[in-house]
Amino acid sequence: MAKWQCGVCGYIFDGDEAPANCPKCGAPKEKFQQLDDETASKVDRSRYTNGLHMELFALLEKAKEISENGIKDALDPACVQIFETTKACATDIQQRIKAELKTHMTKNKWG
Ligand SMILES: [Zn+2]
Repeated sequence: MAKWQCGVCGYIFDGDEAPANCPKCGAPKEKFQQLDDETASKVDRSRYTNGLHMELFALLEKAKEISENGIKDALDPACVQIFETTKACATDIQQRIKAELKTHMTKNKWG
């Protein structure tokens, strides 16, 4: 599908033609420019990757929950160590995902 970018706020609209007004900032249709194929495909790939990040983030959240249950259960030190390490790694990766997604948004571009 064709993609149109608002020249005022950068919002990207998917459609055969530009919207009458920008859904984000209200700018009129004339402010929209159609993205070329290469840029449009970058937008799609970026959305896909962002989705993967979100999926991974949710899985890590689950891993943290499981680890916390294991830490509470505290059967023996070796088990607790595994759960603590898992929880720490999951937290670390989640923070990296957040930072990376923030970078995508400020770089602009494909928001
Ligand atoms: Zn706009």
